[in-house]
Amino acid sequence: MNNFPDTITSKLPNTGTSIFAVMTQMAREHDAINLSQGFPDFEVSPVLIELVAKYMREGYNQYAPMPGVPALREVIAEKTRSLYGAEYNPNTEITVTPGATQAIYAAISAFVRDEDEVILFEPAYDSYVPAIRMNGGVPISSKLKAPTFAIDWEEVRHLLNSRTKMIIINSPHNPTGSILGPDDMAALEKLVSNTGIIVLSDEVYEHIIFEGKQHESVCRYPGLAERSLVTCSFGKTFHATGWKTGYCIGPANLMKEFRRVHQFMVFCSNAPVQHALAEFLQDPSNYEGLGPFYQTKRDFFLNAVKKSRFKAIPAGGTYFQLLDYSGISDQDEMGFAEWLTKEHKVAGVPTSSFYHKTTNNQLLRFCFAKSEETLQKAADILCRI
Ligand code: PMP
Ligand code: GLN
Repeated sequence: MNNFPDTITSKLPNTGTSIFAVMTQMAREHDAINLSQGFPDFEVSPVLIELVAKYMREGYNQYAPMPGVPALREVIAEKTRSLYGAEYNPNTEITVTPGATQAIYAAISAFVRDEDEVILFEPAYDSYVPAIRMNGGVPISSKLKAPTFAIDWEEVRHLLNSRTKMIIINSPHNPTGSILGPDDMAALEKLVSNTGIIVLSDEVYEHIIFEGKQHESVCRYPGLAERSLVTCSFGKTFHATGWKTGYCIGPANLMKEFRRVHQFMVFCSNAPVQHALAEFLQDPSNYEGLGPFYQTKRDFFLNAVKKSRFKAIPAGGTYFQLLDYSGISDQDEMGFAEWLTKEHKVAGVPTSSFYHKTTNNQLLRFCFAKSEETLQKAADILCRI
């Protein structure tokens, strides 16, 4: 007999199960090609796997230091210096985390209090709003408009007020594949200078950027870097989303507060994986070719769906491609995604799940981090619709 009251008041009453879990489960049940959740279907480098195994065998199996293995923090500092010309002290300004999701949650928890406003751009990665709400904050969204999904900085200026605590940016952007340019960074810097606003810059796709464009990390802009926490993910960079290892960098005063929370959320991240990454990252060629690698996949997918009735604007970065189905159906995005998965056996993600209010852009997001064989099979189906 369970006497626990059956009226539980949820802290997240409007939050359902993450769309990535929902679509992946649906794809499984209906034996559909899963281009919904973002993860590669090809292998991690055997060299990196061997390194993890080596460190496990050598006994690196106990807790890592709370901020991360020193050798990994050193090499992250070196990578950030050489890519973005920015200096971060490995002892006080870099923390290794169990993935970017946890880094984002810890960053928001460390700074957002009751009634604080956090500006974000919708469509927005699905973990931001629940993290803000769980900490009593108020998400304030500015819509990115199709087809460019650029930020309207004039609108942002109107949203700013004395309660604005944080602005969350994400470039390259999930789910639209849009990227921020130098003008965006200048506009942001102008808006936040002389304020106490913290920028949370989600840069998990920093290496997945196309047409030889430069990734505009906040680290390149001292006026932004001094107020920014940057979140990164080795899951994206090394095709190892299941290892859940990433990091957060930021100036010492912000990082001190970040660590106060991080230590009690998880204490530390997986030790042998950190040791292996520290060694693997010594060779920048292990991540430098990622942009061209994924651009080839994007182009393969775009070419394979060219004759379909779906319309595409090529993604500028990430491993996601939006496809517009307005020439095929009037259904809302969730309805169309379900129909596509159940009837045609290809799963994508409705972009409506990246908005807090009902939205219908008639766009689905497809992950092209897949083998050419998988992409071709999916595209053949899409071309028959
Ligand atoms: N931010 C964005 C924009 C993402 O797409 C993802 C994962 N796909 C994350 C954060 C989370 O990264 P991780 O898997 O390292 O937690
Ligand atoms: N970030 C991945 C995506 O956008 C999925 C992450 C997750 O499953 N939570 O698809």
